[in-house]
Amino acid sequence: MPELPEVEQVRRTLAPHLLGRRVAAVSIYRPDFILAAPADRTPHALLEGDTITELRRLGKSLALLGSSGRVVGLHLGMTGQFLVRPGPASPAALSSTTHIHIAWHLTSPTTPPTTIAFRDPRRFGEVRPLPSLIHLDALWAPLGPDALTITPNELAPRLKPGKRAIKAALLDQHILAGVGNIYADEALFAARISPRKHAGRLTAADIARLCDHLRAILSRAISAGGSTLRDFVDADGTQGSYRQHHQVYGRANQPCPNCQTTLRSALIAQRTTVWCPRCQSTTHTPSPKSPAAVKRSRRVAGG
Ligand SMILES: [Zn+2]
Repeated sequence: MPELPEVEQVRRTLAPHLLGRRVAAVSIYRPDFILAAPADRTPHALLEGDTITELRRLGKSLALLGSSGRVVGLHLGMTGQFLVRPGPASPAALSSTTHIHIAWHLTSPTTPPTTIAFRDPRRFGEVRPLPSLIHLDALWAPLGPDALTITPNELAPRLKPGKRAIKAALLDQHILAGVGNIYADEALFAARISPRKHAGRLTAADIARLCDHLRAILSRAISAGGSTLRDFVDADGTQGSYRQHHQVYGRANQPCPNCQTTLRSALIAQRTTVWCPRCQSTTHTPSPKSPAAVKRSRRVAGG
């Protein structure tokens, strides 16, 4: 499932193809894929006639903003992809590609026509027409602050009542938006915090270290184009390379890159969680380690 870095990578690669362009037409191949009453599953509701003014992201969610004030909320789900096709791709040509549900045909006075198609084989993705930005704000209101810019002051009060494991809390999009299984495990390892520790028991120092590492790891993953698991490909059709930098995710029973102890795995919040029982001991109080220091030790370790 794409996490924040993959969705941000999609946003960055897709935006140049969208911004300032007019939606000349919208082809709807699977009306039932659109999250709206049947009467609202129209090209008009999906910004036909509008100029695209912004492609916004919060956590793993995206939204397309139109010049009329209308909005389309988007979510990649597990296998959602945007395909960019230069030229006025004919509806017939596109619909022959499997699992394409919607296509936006874009024009601009200065650039050649482009078609952006949303493809989603497993159909957990979302395309949701919204009448205004107020509706987008309401849709996104339950989400926590974006993990890419999270601060200890924002995170601490959200963890406080928690008896849940910190791993489970990090996966909860109402606490923090954008983190999934990969980056939760990676950030907890970097911050030397056991994934099983109660969220409410984290000290102020733990939370500060966790925020530092979350932001640093997510930023590095965005620079590397994300992690690319299975079906995820960004809008340019290129694959991310961050998976080469995973320290614990997907490495159960392999040696810890820091201390060589065998990495453990267990189900936490129904997700396979991997951690080092020594570096991330529940009783261990780690010395504060900056992301830069971790990066240095990683280089020395050859990883
Ligand atoms: Zn270790």
